[in-house]
Amino acid sequence: MVHAVGLVYTEEYQSYNFGPTHPLRPLRLKLTYSLMRELNLLDHHSLKLLEPRMATREELERAHSSDYVNAVKRFSENPEDRSISPHLYGLGPGDNPIFKNMYKASALVCGASIIAADLVWNKEEIHISFNPAGGLHHAHRNRAAGFCIFNDIAVAIHHLKKLKPDIRIAYLDIDAHHGDGVQELFYEDPNVLTISFHESGKFLFPGTGNTNEIGEGPGKGFSLNFPLLPGTSNRMFLKLFRYCIPKILQAYSPDILVTQLGVDMHYNDPLTQMGLSIAVYRDIAQTMRSSARDYCQNRWLAIGGGGYSMTVVPRAWTIFLSKMLDIDLKNELPDTWIAEVKKDVPYEDVPILLWDRDDKSEVQLLSHPEIAKMMIDYNKDLKRICDEEYIPRIISGK
Ligand SMILES: [Zn+2]
Repeated sequence: MVHAVGLVYTEEYQSYNFGPTHPLRPLRLKLTYSLMRELNLLDHHSLKLLEPRMATREELERAHSSDYVNAVKRFSENPEDRSISPHLYGLGPGDNPIFKNMYKASALVCGASIIAADLVWNKEEIHISFNPAGGLHHAHRNRAAGFCIFNDIAVAIHHLKKLKPDIRIAYLDIDAHHGDGVQELFYEDPNVLTISFHESGKFLFPGTGNTNEIGEGPGKGFSLNFPLLPGTSNRMFLKLFRYCIPKILQAYSPDILVTQLGVDMHYNDPLTQMGLSIAVYRDIAQTMRSSARDYCQNRWLAIGGGGYSMTVVPRAWTIFLSKMLDIDLKNELPDTWIAEVKKDVPYEDVPILLWDRDDKSEVQLLSHPEIAKMMIDYNKDLKRICDEEYIPRIISGK
């Protein structure tokens, strides 16, 4: 098997479930897996399907304090326990409600990212691996945040650092929300370059991710942020992404690329105000794949992330997997999958096509030339910051 792709999946992912009214629904993973199956990606000769395991306590405690891990375990076993306050740990009603067996469910997501990391690091024939259940980028050392209990990305990065202590990792996050937890956990580490494209913190949770957050101490210059304006279109996003990402990765030349593939920049996402459509993810996947090949030792660990439309997430991640396998899918959806969507998410418009062609935001912007100009100038400034500040700091700090 040459240049194979690993996919880490289990039905058990359904157990990471904050309840029926919470926006992060595990149903999105079930619908993703069935679309991948219906489009025959799962029996592709280059695909290797693996089951995850739970991360051990030791593995979790590389990213989290033992006090926090203990607290999660305690609430997991007894959700009614109030001998300590769940709010001290970011848990409770709201974003991160406590649920029975949350420890096991969260440790499984972390273990899945570890398995995916192992595949791409240790197996010569596997150059890309994907854990769609992961991407819990908001979890902090001592507390849960933004639907994230344990930070599976940080746990996987620490695992890679254990395998090769001087490893250099580039982490690229395209979720609409800033990858604050991962940035914070490696803020002083020059061997983990964090790059986040997100809706500007002026408009969206968690509020961080400005261009002046650049890292500290030896990590100074190794945290990069691209805060984008609401309504950013496919064209605007791609222009910036394709201009900056290959250059940044070439300058850093890491041993591996780790990506968080949140797809909540889609214009239909209920939690954000961005303007991307599904078609853009074909181009993003292509850029990630070629950049990993050219500048990251041909190693790409892909991890899921946000995305709260139950019909967008499955289509976007299926497109990502097809690009990983270097397959061009037709722009159509199997009837069996459409029937499943009608049954499971009757409240969402049923999609007909695998990707939506229109760049709706671009069309809207054409009728507002003054706003379009402001956005173009804003992105030009981000390009300038990339050229004049980010890349020189990487080169001089290496
Ligand atoms: Zn998000």
